[in-house]
Amino acid sequence: MSNVKGLHHITAIAGDAQENLDFYVGTLGMRLVKRTVNQDAPDTYHLFYGDRDGNPGIDLTFFPWPKLPARRRGWGVWDEVMLGVPKGALDYWVDRLNAHGVSHSAVETRFGERVLPYEDPHGLCSALVESEPYEGFTHSPWPDSSVPEECQIHSLAGIRIFVRDESATADFMARAFGFRLESAERQHTELEELDWKRYVLGDGKAGQRIELSVRPEIARGSWGTGAIHHVAWRAGDEAEQAEFASSAASAGAQPTPVIDRFWFKSVYMQEPSGALNEIATDGPGFAVDEEPAALGERLVLPPKFENHRDAIEAGLPPISVSQALRV
Ligand code: ZN
Repeated sequence: MSNVKGLHHITAIAGDAQENLDFYVGTLGMRLVKRTVNQDAPDTYHLFYGDRDGNPGIDLTFFPWPKLPARRRGWGVWDEVMLGVPKGALDYWVDRLNAHGVSHSAVETRFGERVLPYEDPHGLCSALVESEPYEGFTHSPWPDSSVPEECQIHSLAGIRIFVRDESATADFMARAFGFRLESAERQHTELEELDWKRYVLGDGKAGQRIELSVRPEIARGSWGTGAIHHVAWRAGDEAEQAEFASSAASAGAQPTPVIDRFWFKSVYMQEPSGALNEIATDGPGFAVDEEPAALGERLVLPPKFENHRDAIEAGLPPISVSQALRV
């Protein structure tokens, strides 16, 4: 059996779309690589942030749904997005978050790595992690970013989750995707002290990690602004995707049929605590319908929505990348 390669993308729920753009392009220096609509709710945006080329494994995507109530942290919903930055870059990032008025926690150590936790403007639990991506991972720095190339976010490093029943989630992630327990430690933060376990793929570097803490005493989490909606794992092609979906079904999940997202193909399933997973193909990628130099500049619609472009555009709030770059 082969394993998923690592994270493909993470999708979260945001508030106001321009505020989301201001933060991810203006403050964090990521590139808007696709400006499109939610294919299940085409009257709302779906914004994709990544590196210069929108490589799989660095895409952080958002549904801006400002009318939703705030999310509730708890078990059964992915909890924290970890973004990889080069070793030694966190001092730069502490200064940058301070300069942009972003509240953050003190730098802490997790599994031997320096980590800077913060929340985005809409409450998404996030952290910058000094770590190296896995062998074969592709990252293209974005020369037009307001963050110098040597400090840019280079990957989705990992994802954190609270669960009630560790073995159910761990067994599923092992059988469906190939995760194995790598290490465990008790971690102290300014607010709490918790036991964490790190499950990994491959060599366990950035992009290949789930960190899990057993918290039966807390409530179930819920979606809302600031929540992670789902986490997608990389399949090289559709044959691999079918293999992983079959493994997930053998492990007790109920995978959806393959859904064509146009830039990749998707299969979705819940793990036993309820958190939503996706298996996404690496291709064809974001350059299939836009010039690489112009990614994200205009609203791109999957072909099935093109007939409704005027009505869709009229219903979406205007957003501006150049405004975000002035933040
Ligand atoms: Zn997705």
